[in-house]
Amino acid sequence: ATPTAVMVGTGVGASQGILIKGGQALENAHKVNCIVFDKTGTLTIGKPVVVNTKLLTNMVLREFYELVAAAEVNSEHPLAKATVEYAKKLRDEENPIWPEARDFVSIAGHGVKATVRNKEILVGNKTLLADHNVALPIDAEEILAEAEAMAQTGIIVSINREAVGVLAVSDPLKPAAQEVISILKSMKIRSIMVTGDNWGTANSIAKEVGIETVIAEAKPEQKAEKVKELQASGYRVAMVGDGINDSPALVAADVGMAIGAGTDIAIEAADIVLMKSNLEDVITAIDLSRKTFSRIR
Ligand code: ADP
Ligand code: MG
Repeated sequence: ATPTAVMVGTGVGASQGILIKGGQALENAHKVNCIVFDKTGTLTIGKPVVVNTKLLTNMVLREFYELVAAAEVNSEHPLAKATVEYAKKLRDEENPIWPEARDFVSIAGHGVKATVRNKEILVGNKTLLADHNVALPIDAEEILAEAEAMAQTGIIVSINREAVGVLAVSDPLKPAAQEVISILKSMKIRSIMVTGDNWGTANSIAKEVGIETVIAEAKPEQKAEKVKELQASGYRVAMVGDGINDSPALVAADVGMAIGAGTDIAIEAADIVLMKSNLEDVITAIDLSRKTFSRIR
């Protein structure tokens, strides 16, 4: 392609809300034959909502959520926001004041920990609870398995190392997700999903969207490693993501594509930014590159 063609291609992209950071990014996109998708906020809408709560003791729901919100209000995680939103609804107030949380720690990929009313509160996944030696009652296990089978994420809450409740959070697929994956298939492009979420939920979402290969419970470095592994086996890899978690993988990929609504760090790490946050623009970007760089039109 001539420099003029590349300029035209980049310009057409920009006019459609696809920000291509340089000619190399546009060129690499037409060679892509494998795309690694992040789950939360990329394939899914990324605005999870609490859909179910099961208390394991005789605690009152409102009091339970007060403690959860006190801990989670300190976290930027979408799941944390879901719990705080739900807690607010139970209070029927715009700006409720939560009990004070001390010693707040966010444990990446696992959950949060804080001291509220002199009690240690844990909110997170099974690993978080196991790491703190919190036993899970059978009914909690059952509720978690049910949630995961419905593609929801189960969150466990403990007070002073006793499991007191389980909540299920739902984050539906973006409307275009299934169609995008099926079109990519017809373009002979393989799709893979990587996520920090648990295996049960990840497999359910993957099945729903039509992706066969899944990597769950992945740390940011493991997402990047997966990209490198695919490259080593001969694939030209694009990574599509929105989170800080995804930045190492976005950098490692032949083409990193960030969702415009994502975090600044992901946008900075990417070669292409999908400003409209539409998943179908992954295809538009590849099409644009193919039109610019391949002789067959
Ligand atoms: P993802 O790749 O889906 O964005 P993360 O790596 O951020 O996932 O988190 C992995 C898992 O850790 C979540 O699915 C959740 O179970 C748990 N987790 C992380 N942060 C929180 C939090 N603030 N509250 C509750 N659970 C959390
Ligand atoms: Mg994400």
